[in-house]
Amino acid sequence: MSKYWSSLVEQLKPYVPGEQPKMANLVKLNTNENPFGPSPKVIEAIQKELNDNLRLYPDPEGQALKDAIASYYADYDIKASQVFVGNGSDEVLAHIFQGLLKHDDPILFPDITYSFYPVYCGLYQVEHHAVPLTDSFEIDPADYRRTNGGIIFPNPNAPTGRYLVLQHVEEILQANEDSVVVVDEAYVDFGGESAISLVNKYPNLVVCQTLSKARSLAGLRVGFAVANEELIEALQRVKDSFNSYPLDRLALAGAVAAFEDRQWFEDSCNGVINERERLTEELEELGFEVLPSKANFVFTRHKQKSGAAIAALLRDEGIIVRHFDKPRISDFLRITVGTSDQNNALLKALAEL
Ligand code: PMP
Repeated sequence: MSKYWSSLVEQLKPYVPGEQPKMANLVKLNTNENPFGPSPKVIEAIQKELNDNLRLYPDPEGQALKDAIASYYADYDIKASQVFVGNGSDEVLAHIFQGLLKHDDPILFPDITYSFYPVYCGLYQVEHHAVPLTDSFEIDPADYRRTNGGIIFPNPNAPTGRYLVLQHVEEILQANEDSVVVVDEAYVDFGGESAISLVNKYPNLVVCQTLSKARSLAGLRVGFAVANEELIEALQRVKDSFNSYPLDRLALAGAVAAFEDRQWFEDSCNGVINERERLTEELEELGFEVLPSKANFVFTRHKQKSGAAIAALLRDEGIIVRHFDKPRISDFLRITVGTSDQNNALLKALAEL
């Protein structure tokens, strides 16, 4: 007789993250990590916390981090009470799906997008409708009018890297005043403008960000959301019913230091942007089509060779990129922007294909 939990194992189709191979000398361009590493001030802050305070519980509110984020966004007049923090933006998104998106009216998201969204919908029983991207793989704001359930999309979108200008984000917000609109800005710092500037204008807007990409802290697991106080209070209640300590002491200390070191952050983003533009040009010279990207990756396909074949050949050379076996994008590769040495190794291997 099957146990009552067996059906859960059959039904849940969890998200499968990109591979984290054990071999050290691979050129790893498959999971959009930032190759430049975190600020040394982050390491110092974590080291200090490690030496001094590990026996103590962390602050259940994560107040120091909320203050640091509010002061980072002081130009947009963001208060600490408008910030929610969590264990990576994946966890923040989980709370958003559980608490802020409606469960009976379908929510909308692009059909080519972050593949965790349909997984959350399955877990929390949120109805959804996937809206096709345009022929040029863009989000068309006209396709996101008057939904009752809510809307979520990454900006820049993943895995396309395409960015929707804030004027279009505003069109979506204005057309959906009674629904929550979530903008997932995991990649916004590589050339996009954050919709956090719109939070005080639109009470239905939630902006979600991560420290995994531009701040190079994927291993620390820190993400956050910014919205009006009522939405943040709702998220806080979902979180407090789940885990009173969203972030451990090391993550809190490191994340605060990351927001304080603006120079490191800016240099790191500029380094990625410069390499992305060079990579784009050189890929085009090698016969690749590259979608315009404002992220720390490029989405590209060869005019003749298949994406799966190129990914397999690169792997034989010790270079890992991401290939999605999905309709419309199976020709494409998503390639994380690496250091210039890593990008050179990639370009050399592609030139020899
Ligand atoms: N949103 C998008 C669009 C992403 O690509 C990712 C990274 N996989 C995340 C959110 C989650 O990032 P993290 O949990 O590391 O904060």
